[in-house]
Amino acid sequence: MTDGKMPLRAIVATTASKTAAALSRAAGRGDGSVIGGWIGLKIDPDLLSHLASGRAVALVSGTNGKTTTTRLTAAAVGVLGRVATNGYGANMPTGHTSALAKEGHTPFAVLEVDEHYLAQVIDATRPKVVALLNLSRDQLDRAKEVAMMAQLWKTALAGHPEIRVVANADDPMVVWAAAGSPQTTWFSAGQRWHDDSFVCPESGHPIERANGDWWCTGCPLRRPVPQWVVEEDGVIDPRGDWHLVKLQLPGKVNLGNAATALAVAGEFGVRPIEALPRLSRVTSIAGRYAQVDRDGRNIRLLLAKNPASWLEAFDMADQAPTLLSINARDPDGLDTSWLWDVDFAPLRDRPVLITGDRAYDLAVRLEVNRVPFQHVQTFDQALAAVPPGRLEVIANYTAFQDIRAVLDRVN
Ligand SMILES: [Zn+2]
Repeated sequence: MTDGKMPLRAIVATTASKTAAALSRAAGRGDGSVIGGWIGLKIDPDLLSHLASGRAVALVSGTNGKTTTTRLTAAAVGVLGRVATNGYGANMPTGHTSALAKEGHTPFAVLEVDEHYLAQVIDATRPKVVALLNLSRDQLDRAKEVAMMAQLWKTALAGHPEIRVVANADDPMVVWAAAGSPQTTWFSAGQRWHDDSFVCPESGHPIERANGDWWCTGCPLRRPVPQWVVEEDGVIDPRGDWHLVKLQLPGKVNLGNAATALAVAGEFGVRPIEALPRLSRVTSIAGRYAQVDRDGRNIRLLLAKNPASWLEAFDMADQAPTLLSINARDPDGLDTSWLWDVDFAPLRDRPVLITGDRAYDLAVRLEVNRVPFQHVQTFDQALAAVPPGRLEVIANYTAFQDIRAVLDRVN
């Protein structure tokens, strides 16, 4: 697509969108992608379609891991040429519009999509590939039923048999949503959180699990054989070749995200051997996993925004002093009762500090969970309370942003 082929309204909208984003950045209001996209779409409601046309697009959706997986996928697809991507998690159509407008014409686009908007963004961008990672409940008071979300996905994909679906074989909800698509590639990235998929979305029967396998006890729904599998510290590709995956991102979860990125890039014709060096250069994503040295402490930031991602963060964190910070502002969800769904026992054998607006809710939870802790008022107090060396920080959304601000908006 060249600008010459875009309708005049789309060209005007693109320019306005970029200008607004630049103004917003200059005013110090984040990266400007939401306001820029919003203005562009006001001028031309079809702007996202116009901007996506002529690009080979991959969409990445799911409850957890989509920002990281999008970043890794963009890196992998980058083997083939320039990739437009919404790397900072602005994952609704305004963010997509802005990301594509900002990059100008690129042959490829890899976009993170909020799971609620997947159908709409599929219609607008006509993707070549859609990657479905997982479905679990997000913030409690914003949650849609997980099964309802799976139904929305299923319906969205049913209207687009031309799309290649790359989906997680370990999540029954995802498998059910993707199983009707004629072109599906399955990956196995594990599922640590099972609480939201005990019941078969097809028949309502219980789902049983054993040794990584799962099956419905009342209908044929069961785990498909995956073509991409995490094994030890590497990934097996569809030909059966094993590739060592060296990442700077921590934990088994990110190995799964890398496997997903390789699977999506594979649909574009990228081979693992070409993509892997690029994956190993990804260090942190919008501050997530960022490491900052201060006063002899090596601080590492882990974002955990819902029960499933708290378990993942415990898996990523080293055996080191750990600061937990919880807020309950609008973006976090106002209800902290999800704390009771998370087992904090993995933290018992390390020094734990707590802070944030809702530190007292966390304190009660840890008390009952028999995890000793110390309460601190500020991030600086936390720093002073731990010895030199690693400090792991696990925080939910706005608490994470607060700490990032204290550390001068690390990326
Ligand atoms: Zn069933």
